Amino acid sequence: MSFVAFFAMLIIFLPLDQFLLKNKIFQKEKYKVKHIANIVTKHENYKCEVSPLIFDTLIDRIFIKTTDKIVKNLHLRDKDFWVNDNCNGCRLCEKICPVNNIQFNINKPVWKHNCEQCAACIQYCPKEAIQWRTETKKRRRYRNPNISINELIGC
Ligand code: SF4
Ligand code: SF4
Repeated sequence: MSFVAFFAMLIIFLPLDQFLLKNKIFQKEKYKVKHIANIVTKHENYKCEVSPLIFDTLIDRIFIKTTDKIVKNLHLRDKDFWVNDNCNGCRLCEKICPVNNIQFNINKPVWKHNCEQCAACIQYCPKEAIQWRTETKKRRRYRNPNISINELIGC
């Protein structure tokens, strides 16, 4: 898992008041994302971006190695997901999961241990019924204001 992906995952689990930073981060990255999208669309070759600072690069490499070890069993971490009684069986979580990791068993979601930890199921459940351990019980949910649910589920 890259540093950026791990950082994004941490942000997802932070309390909402800390999401006040989000606009600042979104704004900063907006140009970069457009630039990268342009390169991908045109199938252009592009040299991977590396920090010009040797120290940064070193820290990045150590961080990536360490986090890769920590998240070695990333796909299995969905064993800590569970759903409370608020679930109404709407199946949005099943549709929104980008890797089809959720199936249904008697109208309740079951995770299949191929999770990418994107947290979309937690954040977008309309009843806020999906939990991760006990950490998410009192957390508010976050939804990216720049993308609709329909876009996410490919409608
Ligand atoms: S999205 Fe939420 S309410 Fe809908 S089925 Fe999934 S857990 Fe239940
Ligand atoms: S966290 Fe993401 S990948 Fe994992 S089950 Fe939920 S939606 Fe799917």
